[in-house]
Amino acid sequence: MHLRPILLSVLTSIFYIASSAAPPKYVFLLIGDGMGINQVAATERYHAALDSGRIGREPLTMTQFPYMALCHTYSLSNGVTDSSAAGTALATGNKTANGVLGMDSTRTGTLTSIAELAHKSGRAVGIVTSVSIDHATPGAFYAHVPSRKHYYRIGEQLAASGFEFFGGADFLQPTGKHNDRRHLHHILADSGYTVVKGLTEYQSIDSVPGKIFLTQADGRGNRQLRRSRSSLPYAIDRTLDDLTLPQITDAAIRYLDATGRGFFLMVEGGAIDWACHSNDAATAFAELSDFDTAIAEAYRFYLSHPDETLIVVTADHETGGLALGNSDYALHFDMLSSQQCSQTELSKIIAEACSRSAGWDDIRTILSDRIGFWRYIELSDQDEASLREAYDRTMGGKNGKVANEYSDDDIIAVTAIGILNKSARCGWTTGAHSGAPVGVYAIGCGAEQFTGVIDNTDIPRRIASISGY
Ligand SMILES: [Zn+2]
Repeated sequence: MHLRPILLSVLTSIFYIASSAAPPKYVFLLIGDGMGINQVAATERYHAALDSGRIGREPLTMTQFPYMALCHTYSLSNGVTDSSAAGTALATGNKTANGVLGMDSTRTGTLTSIAELAHKSGRAVGIVTSVSIDHATPGAFYAHVPSRKHYYRIGEQLAASGFEFFGGADFLQPTGKHNDRRHLHHILADSGYTVVKGLTEYQSIDSVPGKIFLTQADGRGNRQLRRSRSSLPYAIDRTLDDLTLPQITDAAIRYLDATGRGFFLMVEGGAIDWACHSNDAATAFAELSDFDTAIAEAYRFYLSHPDETLIVVTADHETGGLALGNSDYALHFDMLSSQQCSQTELSKIIAEACSRSAGWDDIRTILSDRIGFWRYIELSDQDEASLREAYDRTMGGKNGKVANEYSDDDIIAVTAIGILNKSARCGWTTGAHSGAPVGVYAIGCGAEQFTGVIDNTDIPRRIASISGY
């Protein structure tokens, strides 16, 4: 009767001895911004549905990892966290107030991140994201500022961090809020960084001396986004000459591994959150799949160093309150495959057409070409009437924009993507974040410590203790 618990505790001790005897030399923390459990499940269901409408799931890399935990994300100040408080919790193991980055809620005390601890203990450190490198999630690992909006200060702290590798979109305010400060690329150069731009230079990254700042080529990214928040292009919109998150992850792994010192690498899939703020499922699923491809890069490295590597994947919070189903016990996710571009890109195309006084038939052609309306997807009279109303509103000179967190999208595009999501049975409850718990997926040295119901602050504390930082 008592054999099983004893056996279990013996096994646990063996695991503990094994993990404490050999801390991992290589640690990955991969964070899907806004990637709730339903975003993960829906992406798997979507890929199964693409396979001739099959009901089922096509497992992602992360969900095949052997250990999983459920993680709560609330901040010190809010039941629903923002990315800076959540990033701070995941980086430092301490909760803080929404809006604060790498500091306590009094905005005076500095909190140390696991990236800084790893660096102090001799590991090479890399920070990678698909959005701007000074955004809240990456920033939480190297910066300490009272407000996440102090972008120039965050950039200065990046240069001063001494971390070996940074990769992602560029700085939001490279010359400061009022364009009167020294360009951050010059400060980076003074601190021993080489700025490497775009796909061509990425391919020769192995020959670059010193520390690296890898970003997309000039003029790339979601340029029309409000407040100049830059990012790599969405996976659904990009062209073959765009730099991708998996490529930056691959570059970081190769570069950090070559130091021979072991490494800590944080990778953020930052735009999953942005697509979910827009309630744009097809774009979110493509972005999440792209992030999973970056996870597969880490997994490939793990396979050649299985006894020395820990991979932990999680999210900072859920965005959009996504539900699988909205009415009739059916999912029609296969419909989403007719969407060929993001809502943001569709907005740009429609706004350009409207500025040339496009007729309703021209708009219908765009919606048919880009998201399959009337061609693959039948619309009800009510749906068509609401699209026509949005068109008349725009052409009548009224405000034709719908603002959300990261973009001002055209009302016709927003209405169309809303109709498509409703038809596919994706339910969205908010254009903001939600307080839903998120998943933690782990494999490798010490991964067995990531089970049960945990708090976001437990993740860096456990990584630091497993890794001996
Ligand atoms: Zn967000």
